[in-house]
Amino acid sequence: MTAFQRVVVLGSTGSIGESTLDVIARHPERLAVYALSAYSRMQRLAEQAEASGAAVVVVPDEAARRQFAAAWSGARPMPEIRVGAQALADTAADPQCDSVMAAIVGAAGLPAALAAARSGKRVLLANKEALVAAGSLFMQAIRDNGAELLPIDSEHNAIFQCMPTGGRALAPDAPAPGVRRLLLTASGGPFRGRDLEDLHDVTPAQACAHPNWSMGRKISVDSATMLNKGLEVIEAHWLFAMPAERIEVVVHPQSVVHSMVEYNDGSVLAQLGQPDMRTPIAYGLGFPERLESGVGPLDLTRLGRLDFEKPDLARFPCLALSFAALRAGQGACVALNAANEVAVEAFLAGRLPYTWIARVIEASLEWQARQGSVTLGSLDDVLALDAATRAYAGNLGLA
Ligand code: NAD
Ligand code: MG
Repeated sequence: MTAFQRVVVLGSTGSIGESTLDVIARHPERLAVYALSAYSRMQRLAEQAEASGAAVVVVPDEAARRQFAAAWSGARPMPEIRVGAQALADTAADPQCDSVMAAIVGAAGLPAALAAARSGKRVLLANKEALVAAGSLFMQAIRDNGAELLPIDSEHNAIFQCMPTGGRALAPDAPAPGVRRLLLTASGGPFRGRDLEDLHDVTPAQACAHPNWSMGRKISVDSATMLNKGLEVIEAHWLFAMPAERIEVVVHPQSVVHSMVEYNDGSVLAQLGQPDMRTPIAYGLGFPERLESGVGPLDLTRLGRLDFEKPDLARFPCLALSFAALRAGQGACVALNAANEVAVEAFLAGRLPYTWIARVIEASLEWQARQGSVTLGSLDDVLALDAATRAYAGNLGLA
Protein backbone atom coordinates (compact mmCIF):
# COMPACT_ATOMS: atom_id res chain seq x y z
CA MET A 1 0.00 0.00 0.00
CA THR A 2 1.33 3.42 -0.89
CA ALA A 3 1.99 5.68 2.06
CA PHE A 4 -0.24 8.39 0.64
CA GLN A 5 -3.76 7.35 -0.33
CA ARG A 6 -6.28 9.16 -2.47
CA VAL A 7 -9.71 7.98 -1.43
CA VAL A 8 -13.07 7.75 -3.20
CA VAL A 9 -15.97 7.91 -0.74
CA LEU A 10 -19.09 6.35 -2.28
CA GLY A 11 -22.14 7.51 -0.32
CA SER A 12 -20.29 10.38 1.35
CA THR A 13 -23.40 12.10 2.70
CA GLY A 14 -24.47 9.05 4.71
CA SER A 15 -23.59 8.11 8.25
CA ILE A 16 -20.52 6.06 7.26
CA GLY A 17 -19.54 8.65 4.63
CA GLU A 18 -19.55 11.48 7.19
CA SER A 19 -17.49 9.43 9.66
CA THR A 20 -15.02 8.56 6.88
CA LEU A 21 -14.51 12.22 5.98
CA ASP A 22 -13.98 13.00 9.66
CA VAL A 23 -11.15 10.43 9.89
CA ILE A 24 -9.57 11.48 6.57
CA ALA A 25 -9.51 15.14 7.66
CA ARG A 26 -7.41 14.17 10.70
CA HIS A 27 -4.58 12.85 8.49
CA PRO A 28 -3.76 15.31 5.70
CA GLU A 29 -0.20 13.95 5.60
CA ARG A 30 -1.36 10.51 4.41
CA LEU A 31 -4.98 10.69 3.25
CA ALA A 32 -6.78 12.88 0.71
CA VAL A 33 -10.22 12.79 -0.86
CA TYR A 34 -10.22 12.21 -4.61
CA ALA A 35 -13.96 11.82 -5.22
CA LEU A 36 -17.28 11.88 -3.37
CA SER A 37 -20.69 10.55 -4.35
CA ALA A 38 -24.23 11.09 -3.12
CA TYR A 39 -27.73 10.27 -4.28
CA SER A 40 -29.50 13.23 -2.63
CA ARG A 41 -28.69 16.22 -0.37
CA MET A 42 -26.62 18.10 -2.96
CA GLN A 43 -26.14 21.03 -0.59
CA ARG A 44 -24.36 18.74 1.87
CA LEU A 45 -22.32 17.15 -0.93
CA ALA A 46 -21.18 20.63 -2.03
CA GLU A 47 -20.11 21.47 1.54
CA GLN A 48 -18.20 18.20 1.81
CA ALA A 49 -16.50 18.69 -1.57
CA GLU A 50 -15.43 22.18 -0.60
CA ALA A 51 -14.11 21.18 2.83
CA SER A 52 -12.22 18.12 1.52
CA GLY A 53 -10.96 19.57 -1.77
CA ALA A 54 -12.47 16.67 -3.78
CA ALA A 55 -11.49 16.72 -7.46
CA VAL A 56 -14.61 14.82 -8.57
CA VAL A 57 -18.19 14.41 -7.42
CA VAL A 58 -20.65 11.82 -8.74
CA VAL A 59 -24.39 12.60 -8.72
CA PRO A 60 -27.35 10.52 -9.96
CA ASP A 61 -28.88 12.70 -12.69
CA GLU A 62 -28.96 16.06 -14.48
CA ALA A 63 -31.30 17.61 -11.92
CA ALA A 64 -28.79 16.73 -9.18
CA ARG A 65 -25.98 18.20 -11.29
CA ARG A 66 -27.84 21.51 -11.46
CA GLN A 67 -28.56 21.42 -7.73
CA PHE A 68 -24.91 20.76 -6.99
CA ALA A 69 -23.74 23.59 -9.22
CA ALA A 70 -26.27 25.97 -7.65
CA ALA A 71 -25.10 24.98 -4.18
CA TRP A 72 -21.42 25.55 -4.98
CA SER A 73 -20.16 28.57 -3.05
CA GLY A 74 -17.47 29.54 -5.54
CA ALA A 75 -14.72 29.74 -2.92
CA ARG A 76 -12.72 27.14 -4.91
CA PRO A 77 -12.91 25.93 -8.51
CA MET A 78 -15.87 23.58 -8.83
CA PRO A 79 -14.99 19.84 -8.90
CA GLU A 80 -15.64 17.82 -12.03
CA ILE A 81 -19.25 16.59 -11.85
CA ARG A 82 -19.90 13.09 -13.19
CA VAL A 83 -23.45 11.83 -13.67
CA GLY A 84 -25.12 8.42 -13.37
CA ALA A 85 -24.53 4.85 -12.26
CA GLN A 86 -21.88 4.10 -14.90
CA ALA A 87 -19.90 7.16 -13.79
CA LEU A 88 -20.11 5.86 -10.24
CA ALA A 89 -18.55 2.51 -11.22
CA ASP A 90 -15.95 4.26 -13.42
CA THR A 91 -14.96 6.56 -10.57
CA ALA A 92 -14.55 3.59 -8.21
CA ALA A 93 -12.11 2.19 -10.79
CA ASP A 94 -10.44 5.53 -11.56
CA PRO A 95 -6.64 5.20 -11.84
CA GLN A 96 -6.35 8.46 -9.87
CA CYS A 97 -7.52 6.79 -6.65
CA ASP A 98 -5.95 4.16 -4.37
CA SER A 99 -8.77 3.32 -1.94
CA VAL A 100 -12.53 3.15 -2.20
CA MET A 101 -14.89 3.43 0.76
CA ALA A 102 -18.01 1.53 -0.36
CA ALA A 103 -20.67 3.17 1.82
CA ILE A 104 -23.71 3.30 -0.43
CA VAL A 105 -26.72 1.62 1.19
CA GLY A 106 -28.30 -1.41 -0.45
CA ALA A 107 -27.63 -3.52 -3.53
CA ALA A 108 -27.46 -0.23 -5.45
CA GLY A 109 -23.86 -0.07 -4.24
CA LEU A 110 -22.87 -3.41 -5.76
CA PRO A 111 -21.73 -2.38 -9.28
CA ALA A 112 -19.39 0.33 -7.97
CA ALA A 113 -18.00 -1.86 -5.18
CA LEU A 114 -17.34 -4.61 -7.71
CA ALA A 115 -15.68 -2.13 -10.08
CA ALA A 116 -13.33 -1.11 -7.25
CA ALA A 117 -12.46 -4.76 -6.61
CA ARG A 118 -11.90 -5.44 -10.32
CA SER A 119 -9.51 -2.52 -10.61
CA GLY A 120 -7.36 -3.76 -7.73
CA LYS A 121 -8.13 -1.04 -5.20
CA ARG A 122 -8.03 -1.17 -1.45
CA VAL A 123 -11.76 -1.66 -0.86
CA LEU A 124 -13.14 -0.56 2.50
CA LEU A 125 -16.44 -2.41 2.56
CA ALA A 126 -19.30 -0.99 4.61
CA ASN A 127 -21.93 -1.89 1.99
CA LYS A 128 -22.77 -5.36 3.31
CA GLU A 129 -25.67 -5.78 0.88
CA ALA A 130 -23.11 -5.99 -1.97
CA LEU A 131 -21.54 -9.04 -0.36
CA VAL A 132 -24.88 -10.65 0.51
CA ALA A 133 -26.07 -10.32 -3.09
CA ALA A 134 -22.82 -11.25 -4.83
CA GLY A 135 -20.42 -12.75 -2.30
CA SER A 136 -18.84 -15.28 -4.58
CA LEU A 137 -18.34 -12.86 -7.51
CA PHE A 138 -17.07 -10.12 -5.25
CA MET A 139 -14.53 -12.25 -3.35
CA GLN A 140 -13.29 -13.76 -6.62
CA ALA A 141 -12.83 -10.25 -8.07
CA ILE A 142 -10.76 -9.26 -5.02
CA ARG A 143 -8.54 -12.34 -5.40
CA ASP A 144 -8.20 -12.20 -9.18
CA ASN A 145 -7.20 -8.54 -9.29
CA GLY A 146 -4.89 -8.27 -6.30
CA ALA A 147 -7.29 -5.94 -4.52
CA GLU A 148 -7.30 -5.55 -0.73
CA LEU A 149 -10.53 -6.02 1.18
CA LEU A 150 -10.87 -4.42 4.60
CA PRO A 151 -14.18 -5.03 6.39
CA ILE A 152 -15.67 -1.88 7.89
CA ASP A 153 -18.83 -3.34 9.44
CA SER A 154 -17.84 -3.21 13.13
CA GLU A 155 -18.35 -6.94 13.79
CA HIS A 156 -16.32 -8.02 10.78
CA ASN A 157 -13.66 -5.47 11.46
CA ALA A 158 -13.44 -6.88 15.01
CA ILE A 159 -13.17 -10.44 13.68
CA PHE A 160 -10.52 -9.35 11.19
CA GLN A 161 -8.53 -7.80 14.04
CA CYS A 162 -8.83 -11.03 16.11
CA MET A 163 -7.73 -13.35 13.31
CA PRO A 164 -4.32 -15.03 13.61
CA THR A 165 -1.71 -12.63 12.24
CA GLY A 166 -0.50 -15.07 9.59
CA GLY A 167 -4.06 -15.94 8.65
CA ARG A 168 -5.27 -12.38 8.31
CA ALA A 169 -5.73 -12.86 4.60
CA LEU A 170 -7.53 -10.09 2.76
CA ALA A 171 -9.79 -12.51 0.86
CA PRO A 172 -9.33 -16.06 2.18
CA ASP A 173 -10.80 -19.06 0.34
CA ALA A 174 -10.71 -21.37 3.38
CA PRO A 175 -11.26 -20.82 7.12
CA ALA A 176 -8.15 -19.58 8.93
CA PRO A 177 -6.24 -22.50 10.50
CA GLY A 178 -6.88 -22.91 14.22
CA VAL A 179 -10.16 -20.99 14.20
CA ARG A 180 -13.16 -22.95 15.50
CA ARG A 181 -15.99 -20.41 15.35
CA LEU A 182 -16.84 -16.76 14.78
CA LEU A 183 -18.99 -15.17 17.49
CA LEU A 184 -20.91 -12.21 16.08
CA THR A 185 -22.30 -9.88 18.71
CA ALA A 186 -25.68 -8.19 18.24
CA SER A 187 -27.14 -5.39 20.34
CA GLY A 188 -30.67 -6.74 19.88
CA GLY A 189 -31.82 -3.29 18.73
CA PRO A 190 -34.53 -1.11 20.26
CA PHE A 191 -37.07 -3.97 20.62
CA ARG A 192 -34.80 -6.54 22.28
CA GLY A 193 -37.08 -7.39 25.20
CA ARG A 194 -40.41 -6.93 23.40
CA ASP A 195 -42.79 -9.61 22.15
CA LEU A 196 -43.41 -9.78 18.41
CA GLU A 197 -47.18 -9.31 18.90
CA ASP A 198 -46.57 -5.95 20.62
CA LEU A 199 -44.64 -4.59 17.68
CA HIS A 200 -47.35 -4.39 15.03
CA ASP A 201 -47.88 -0.64 15.42
CA VAL A 202 -44.33 0.55 15.97
CA THR A 203 -43.43 3.64 13.95
CA PRO A 204 -40.36 4.25 11.78
CA ALA A 205 -39.10 6.73 14.41
CA GLN A 206 -39.30 4.05 17.12
CA ALA A 207 -37.60 1.46 14.92
CA CYS A 208 -34.81 3.90 14.01
CA ALA A 209 -34.06 4.83 17.65
CA HIS A 210 -31.12 2.49 18.10
CA PRO A 211 -29.91 2.28 21.71
CA ASN A 212 -26.16 2.41 20.93
CA TRP A 213 -25.37 3.35 17.33
CA SER A 214 -26.37 6.34 15.23
CA MET A 215 -26.82 5.06 11.65
CA GLY A 216 -28.75 5.51 8.41
CA ARG A 217 -32.48 4.70 8.48
CA LYS A 218 -32.37 1.45 6.50
CA ILE A 219 -29.70 -0.22 8.64
CA SER A 220 -31.45 1.08 11.77
CA VAL A 221 -34.65 -0.78 10.80
CA ASP A 222 -32.55 -3.82 9.90
CA SER A 223 -31.04 -3.69 13.39
CA ALA A 224 -34.51 -3.59 14.95
CA THR A 225 -35.66 -6.69 13.01
CA MET A 226 -32.19 -8.28 13.40
CA LEU A 227 -32.18 -8.83 9.64
CA ASN A 228 -28.99 -6.76 9.91
CA LYS A 229 -27.41 -9.56 11.95
CA GLY A 230 -28.62 -12.05 9.36
CA LEU A 231 -26.95 -10.04 6.58
CA GLU A 232 -23.83 -9.95 8.75
CA VAL A 233 -23.80 -13.74 9.16
CA ILE A 234 -23.84 -14.03 5.36
CA GLU A 235 -21.21 -11.28 5.14
CA ALA A 236 -18.97 -13.17 7.62
CA HIS A 237 -19.45 -16.37 5.65
CA TRP A 238 -17.97 -14.72 2.55
CA LEU A 239 -15.33 -12.52 4.18
CA PHE A 240 -13.81 -15.31 6.27
CA ALA A 241 -14.76 -18.36 4.14
CA MET A 242 -16.60 -19.71 7.18
CA PRO A 243 -19.48 -22.23 6.96
CA ALA A 244 -22.81 -21.11 8.47
CA GLU A 245 -22.68 -23.68 11.27
CA ARG A 246 -19.43 -22.14 12.57
CA ILE A 247 -20.91 -18.65 12.90
CA GLU A 248 -22.83 -17.92 16.09
CA VAL A 249 -24.85 -14.84 17.01
CA VAL A 250 -24.62 -13.66 20.63
CA VAL A 251 -26.83 -10.84 21.89
CA HIS A 252 -24.74 -8.28 23.78
CA PRO A 253 -26.83 -5.19 24.58
CA GLN A 254 -23.95 -2.83 25.45
CA SER A 255 -22.26 -3.07 21.97
CA VAL A 256 -18.81 -2.85 23.55
CA VAL A 257 -17.51 -6.27 22.47
CA HIS A 258 -17.73 -5.84 18.71
CA SER A 259 -17.27 -9.59 17.97
CA MET A 260 -15.02 -12.53 18.81
CA VAL A 261 -12.97 -15.34 17.30
CA GLU A 262 -12.87 -18.71 19.06
CA TYR A 263 -9.82 -20.91 18.52
CA ASN A 264 -9.39 -24.70 18.63
CA ASP A 265 -7.49 -24.46 21.92
CA GLY A 266 -10.45 -22.76 23.65
CA SER A 267 -9.06 -19.21 23.45
CA VAL A 268 -11.57 -16.54 22.57
CA LEU A 269 -10.22 -13.22 21.29
CA ALA A 270 -12.46 -10.19 21.33
CA GLN A 271 -12.15 -6.62 20.06
CA LEU A 272 -13.70 -3.97 22.31
CA GLY A 273 -14.29 -0.28 21.92
CA GLN A 274 -16.84 2.47 21.99
CA PRO A 275 -19.69 2.06 19.50
CA ASP A 276 -18.27 4.61 17.03
CA MET A 277 -17.69 3.63 13.39
CA ARG A 278 -14.63 5.87 13.15
CA THR A 279 -12.63 3.07 14.84
CA PRO A 280 -13.14 0.43 12.11
CA ILE A 281 -12.93 3.14 9.44
CA ALA A 282 -9.55 4.35 10.76
CA TYR A 283 -8.40 0.73 10.97
CA GLY A 284 -9.27 0.19 7.30
CA LEU A 285 -7.69 3.43 6.14
CA GLY A 286 -4.50 2.92 8.13
CA PHE A 287 -4.01 -0.86 7.86
CA PRO A 288 -1.58 -2.27 8.85
CA GLU A 289 -0.82 0.83 10.91
CA ARG A 290 -3.10 2.37 13.53
CA LEU A 291 -4.45 5.87 13.01
CA GLU A 292 -5.95 8.34 15.46
CA SER A 293 -9.71 8.21 14.83
CA GLY A 294 -11.15 10.79 17.20
CA VAL A 295 -12.71 8.02 19.32
CA GLY A 296 -11.99 8.37 23.02
CA PRO A 297 -10.97 5.66 25.50
CA LEU A 298 -13.29 2.93 26.72
CA ASP A 299 -14.12 3.34 30.41
CA LEU A 300 -14.82 -0.25 31.50
CA THR A 301 -15.24 0.58 35.17
CA ARG A 302 -17.96 3.07 34.33
CA LEU A 303 -19.71 0.40 32.25
CA GLY A 304 -19.42 -2.03 35.16
CA ARG A 305 -20.81 -5.07 33.36
CA LEU A 306 -21.15 -6.72 29.98
CA ASP A 307 -24.15 -8.98 29.30
CA PHE A 308 -24.56 -11.81 26.80
CA GLU A 309 -27.64 -13.82 25.87
CA LYS A 310 -28.91 -16.16 23.17
CA PRO A 311 -30.94 -14.60 20.34
CA ASP A 312 -34.62 -15.57 20.35
CA LEU A 313 -35.32 -16.71 16.79
CA ALA A 314 -39.08 -16.81 17.42
CA ARG A 315 -39.13 -13.12 18.29
CA PHE A 316 -36.71 -12.24 15.48
CA PRO A 317 -37.95 -14.24 12.46
CA CYS A 318 -35.71 -12.24 10.11
CA LEU A 319 -32.64 -13.77 11.72
CA ALA A 320 -33.99 -17.29 11.19
CA LEU A 321 -34.87 -16.41 7.56
CA SER A 322 -31.30 -15.22 6.97
CA PHE A 323 -29.77 -18.46 8.22
CA ALA A 324 -32.22 -20.33 5.99
CA ALA A 325 -31.23 -18.21 2.98
CA LEU A 326 -27.53 -18.80 3.59
CA ARG A 327 -28.13 -22.55 3.71
CA ALA A 328 -30.34 -22.43 0.60
CA GLY A 329 -27.73 -20.69 -1.55
CA GLN A 330 -26.91 -17.51 -3.36
CA GLY A 331 -30.23 -17.08 -5.15
CA ALA A 332 -31.97 -17.08 -1.78
CA CYS A 333 -29.49 -14.52 -0.42
CA VAL A 334 -30.17 -12.17 -3.34
CA ALA A 335 -33.91 -12.57 -2.74
CA LEU A 336 -33.58 -12.08 1.03
CA ASN A 337 -31.77 -8.81 0.55
CA ALA A 338 -33.95 -7.44 -2.27
CA ALA A 339 -37.22 -8.32 -0.51
CA ASN A 340 -35.96 -6.71 2.67
CA GLU A 341 -35.02 -3.50 0.85
CA VAL A 342 -38.52 -3.30 -0.64
CA ALA A 343 -40.19 -4.04 2.70
CA VAL A 344 -38.08 -1.62 4.73
CA GLU A 345 -38.67 1.16 2.22
CA ALA A 346 -42.44 0.50 2.44
CA PHE A 347 -42.27 0.46 6.24
CA LEU A 348 -40.32 3.74 6.35
CA ALA A 349 -42.87 5.29 3.97
CA GLY A 350 -45.72 4.23 6.27
CA ARG A 351 -47.12 1.70 3.76
CA LEU A 352 -46.27 -1.52 5.61
CA PRO A 353 -46.65 -2.54 9.26
CA TYR A 354 -43.40 -3.38 10.98
CA THR A 355 -44.26 -7.04 11.58
CA TRP A 356 -44.94 -7.57 7.87
CA ILE A 357 -41.31 -6.98 6.92
CA ALA A 358 -40.57 -10.62 7.85
CA ARG A 359 -43.68 -11.79 5.95
CA VAL A 360 -42.58 -10.06 2.74
CA ILE A 361 -39.15 -11.65 3.04
CA GLU A 362 -40.55 -15.10 3.77
CA ALA A 363 -42.96 -14.99 0.83
CA SER A 364 -40.18 -13.78 -1.47
CA LEU A 365 -37.87 -16.60 -0.37
CA GLU A 366 -40.64 -19.12 -1.09
CA TRP A 367 -41.15 -17.53 -4.51
CA GLN A 368 -37.42 -17.69 -5.23
CA ALA A 369 -37.27 -21.36 -4.17
CA ARG A 370 -40.10 -22.15 -6.64
CA GLN A 371 -37.99 -20.68 -9.48
CA GLY A 372 -35.60 -23.64 -9.19
CA SER A 373 -31.84 -23.30 -9.43
CA VAL A 374 -30.37 -20.12 -10.87
CA THR A 375 -26.99 -19.33 -12.35
CA LEU A 376 -25.42 -16.27 -10.78
CA GLY A 377 -22.15 -16.16 -12.67
CA SER A 378 -22.15 -12.49 -13.55
CA LEU A 379 -23.16 -9.11 -12.20
CA ASP A 380 -26.02 -9.03 -14.72
CA ASP A 381 -27.35 -12.36 -13.41
CA VAL A 382 -27.37 -11.01 -9.86
CA LEU A 383 -28.99 -7.71 -10.85
CA ALA A 384 -31.67 -9.55 -12.86
CA LEU A 385 -32.66 -11.72 -9.88
CA ASP A 386 -32.51 -8.68 -7.60
CA ALA A 387 -34.90 -6.80 -9.93
CA ALA A 388 -37.25 -9.78 -10.31
CA THR A 389 -37.45 -10.20 -6.54
CA ARG A 390 -38.18 -6.50 -6.07
CA ALA A 391 -41.00 -6.76 -8.60
CA TYR A 392 -42.42 -9.80 -6.81
CA ALA A 393 -42.12 -8.30 -3.31
CA GLY A 394 -43.56 -4.99 -4.48
CA ASN A 395 -46.61 -6.75 -5.95
CA LEU A 396 -47.39 -8.81 -2.88
CA GLY A 397 -50.10 -6.39 -1.93
CA LEU A 398 -48.31 -6.01 1.37
CA ALA A 399 -45.59 -3.65 0.28
P1 NAD B 1 -27.05 6.23 4.89
O1 NAD B 1 -28.44 6.04 4.47
O2 NAD B 1 -26.74 7.13 6.03
O3 NAD B 1 -26.18 6.74 3.63
C1 NAD B 1 -26.27 6.12 2.38
C2 NAD B 1 -25.45 6.86 1.33
O4 NAD B 1 -25.67 6.21 0.07
C3 NAD B 1 -25.86 8.32 1.12
O5 NAD B 1 -24.72 9.08 0.79
C4 NAD B 1 -26.81 8.25 -0.09
O6 NAD B 1 -26.86 9.47 -0.83
C5 NAD B 1 -26.19 7.14 -0.91
N1 NAD B 1 -27.18 6.40 -1.71
C6 NAD B 1 -28.41 5.97 -1.32
N2 NAD B 1 -29.04 5.32 -2.32
C7 NAD B 1 -28.19 5.35 -3.38
C8 NAD B 1 -28.28 4.87 -4.73
N3 NAD B 1 -29.38 4.22 -5.18
N4 NAD B 1 -27.23 5.08 -5.55
C9 NAD B 1 -26.13 5.73 -5.12
N5 NAD B 1 -25.99 6.22 -3.85
C10 NAD B 1 -27.01 6.03 -3.01
O7 NAD B 1 -26.44 4.76 5.18
P2 NAD B 1 -25.29 4.34 6.21
O8 NAD B 1 -25.86 4.10 7.54
O9 NAD B 1 -24.12 5.25 6.07
O10 NAD B 1 -24.92 2.89 5.64
C11 NAD B 1 -24.18 2.73 4.45
C12 NAD B 1 -23.79 1.26 4.30
O11 NAD B 1 -22.91 0.93 5.36
C13 NAD B 1 -24.96 0.30 4.39
O12 NAD B 1 -24.74 -0.78 3.54
C14 NAD B 1 -24.93 -0.16 5.83
O13 NAD B 1 -25.47 -1.45 6.00
C15 NAD B 1 -23.43 -0.16 6.10
N6 NAD B 1 -23.07 -0.01 7.52
C16 NAD B 1 -23.42 1.13 8.17
C17 NAD B 1 -23.10 1.29 9.51
C18 NAD B 1 -23.45 2.56 10.25
O14 NAD B 1 -23.06 2.71 11.42
N7 NAD B 1 -24.16 3.49 9.67
C19 NAD B 1 -22.41 0.27 10.18
C20 NAD B 1 -22.07 -0.87 9.47
C21 NAD B 1 -22.39 -1.00 8.13
MG1 MG C 1 -22.55 -4.25 12.01
